Amino acid sequence: MYADIIVDISHDKLDKTFQYQVPAALAERLVVGMQVNVPFGRGNRLITGYIVNLTDTAEFDTARMKEIHSVAEGKVPIGSRMIRLASFIRANYGGSMNQALKTVIPVKESVKAREKKSIHLNIPKEEAKQLLSEFEKKHAAARARLMKSLIEEEIIEYELVTGKLNISGVVLRYFEEQGFIRTEREELYRNPVKEQEREELRKTLNQEQRYITDCILDDYGRGVYKTYLIKGITGSGKTEVYLSVIEAVLSQGKQAIVLIPEISLTFQTVMRFYKRFGDVVAIMHSRLSKGERYDQFERAKKGLIQIMIGPRSALFTPFPNLGLIVIDEEHEGAYKSENVPRYHAVGVAKELAALCNASVILGSATPSVDSYYRALRGEYRLLTLNERAAVDAALPDVTVVDLKEELKNGNRSIFSRKLQELIKDRLRKKQQTMLFINRRGYFGLISCRSCGHVIKCPHCDISLTSHKNNRLVCHYCGYTTAMVQTCPQCGSKYISALRGGTQMVEEAAVRAFPEAKILRMDTDTTKGKDGHEKILAAFAAGEADILVGTQMIVKGHDYANVTLVGILAADISLHAGDYRAAERTFQLLTQAAGRAGRGSERGEVVIQAYDTENFAIETAAKQDYDEFYNQEILYRTLLDYPPVSNMLLVKFSSRYEERLIKAVNTVKITKENVTIIGPCDAALYKADDIFNKVLYYKAEAYETLTGIKDELEQFAKDNDDFQYVSVQFDFNPMNAY
Ligand code: ADP
Ligand code: ZN
Ligand code: ZN
Repeated sequence: MYADIIVDISHDKLDKTFQYQVPAALAERLVVGMQVNVPFGRGNRLITGYIVNLTDTAEFDTARMKEIHSVAEGKVPIGSRMIRLASFIRANYGGSMNQALKTVIPVKESVKAREKKSIHLNIPKEEAKQLLSEFEKKHAAARARLMKSLIEEEIIEYELVTGKLNISGVVLRYFEEQGFIRTEREELYRNPVKEQEREELRKTLNQEQRYITDCILDDYGRGVYKTYLIKGITGSGKTEVYLSVIEAVLSQGKQAIVLIPEISLTFQTVMRFYKRFGDVVAIMHSRLSKGERYDQFERAKKGLIQIMIGPRSALFTPFPNLGLIVIDEEHEGAYKSENVPRYHAVGVAKELAALCNASVILGSATPSVDSYYRALRGEYRLLTLNERAAVDAALPDVTVVDLKEELKNGNRSIFSRKLQELIKDRLRKKQQTMLFINRRGYFGLISCRSCGHVIKCPHCDISLTSHKNNRLVCHYCGYTTAMVQTCPQCGSKYISALRGGTQMVEEAAVRAFPEAKILRMDTDTTKGKDGHEKILAAFAAGEADILVGTQMIVKGHDYANVTLVGILAADISLHAGDYRAAERTFQLLTQAAGRAGRGSERGEVVIQAYDTENFAIETAAKQDYDEFYNQEILYRTLLDYPPVSNMLLVKFSSRYEERLIKAVNTVKITKENVTIIGPCDAALYKADDIFNKVLYYKAEAYETLTGIKDELEQFAKDNDDFQYVSVQFDFNPMNAY
């Protein structure tokens, strides 16, 4: 047996492994991730290294290959834990060991650290308040926003001011010149609030919150480390529960990782953690350079911070004594990596927790079907919050409008009469409206505008999409049929591929409501650093009457003045062409509806749809999660979709179409109790001159599928047809391919 060893992981040596022979005496003991002593260099000096792979194949002449000297004794070091995690990721989600290592270990890069600055209020609060009301009178929105935040916080880190608060350099210079603020350097991680203030900020937990916190901490005290699912509507006080549990965990000398989808990582959320815990909090986000990320991780290793908040990648913070992992909004698609290795943060968090004796808390208002299924089966402990924690927050009124009826009544506008009426009402009252278009699934979907009928695959119950050659195709099984000219349901000729987008909605809104100020948010308007955050901040500050956008607008900020939410074609995402479509639609609608009426004013929601009787629309309108879940899990059970069964997508790609076809057709891996679907063309069959085909495997046990992955990898390695064909894996995919 041979071992591939990385001798130093504190530098960028991940690409370089050295192979050593495994002496017979050690063969039984060695596992991937273990630390060993090896002779190194010409002098054969003994140094330590990590085993990243064990194999039967020698990479070079064994006569010249050195032997591992011994196992390095002592406590399991962090590096070793990360390598075990990498090996878990590689085994369960595919990709190479190198890709997995690069995922879990940040690479050191010698970049000059950006200067850390913070902004301090430099005048008495009374004066600041007077200035604030002047700015407000003059409609100087950015100045007002900055002054208001400074009155609340007094010290704000520079990055938050320019990023999350969307304050330009011009405004900051003006404030400095006037002496309203002063800038201090290298003080970023200072505690922004005073000790006694922090005490006052602590809420007395209500009965439900207390119960949940006690459950988790009782287990913790007895050395029982579980995964908990907290299901509680937005505003029910989940974050307050996380804060309490984290506090208890910290008091035992352990650390915590808090995952939050990047888009929800707003100024408000971050401040809550800073205020409660002060300078032991660190934040990770995708805009940090590799070097900055590395620095953050070094601070964690040295014990300078105790809490890391961030998206998916914050999971790999090398805390010496990790005690808790919180995953907020656990249903979010962003927790699944879009690049190889396509790991899911929840799966990796559970493995990491098992390696460190840590607990995992998952939280959501609309738990993923997967997590809820596991919770109901006892794999997770289910804990619920049923009441809103703040007294004045009422749930919104929801109306469902039938778009078929609108067309029948001669309304060809994209806004129903009800929605138009309500928007005008809000414009009069100087309240804000959000218009949400459900863009996902628009691509190629064929639907009837008269009856709402959508053409589906007879084998998979997944909507067909139109392709260039006038044919309709199923992305799962490859079934094709000719494009229809009239609706098979009602005979109408108004059947075609759907079109539409935020820009079209914006234009329609400008025409319908000429007096309104309208902001649009989509991938075009949010380019650049913090683009989406800036638009949201501007809207939150009251700089527009209507915000038009896609899924992006339903997350993040609290908008006290938004009292109307319009969802334009709510059922479109039901036809996104994958088995999670209903789940995503339900979650989106519930979240979008939750945006209305966050302040004292009661909110209204208008859901426009063709298929108003679809259960995902109906249950979202009633905000009834359990009813949604019960129907959805029935469908998953009937069709053997996850979480009842497991699914592996294999994507074959090549620049050469013929080679691709030949290679895919040679794959003959079959197994008992495994269903194979395909191969067929990917939704994007040809993209960037690369051809793509997909193949699905379904099996009850996840391990069956990882076995198939291993076999397929080996098969592709040994088979010449695969020379110019790459193979990628996605376990329980979140999207259509
Ligand atoms: P969630 O995370 O479930 O959306 P939060 O923890 O953010 O809920 O709480 C929603 C609002 O209610 C916040 O403004 C929070 O400060 C407040 N809140 C939470 N718990 C309590 C409590 N026990 N007493 C009073 N207010 C609370
Ligand atoms: Zn029809
Ligand atoms: Zn099909």
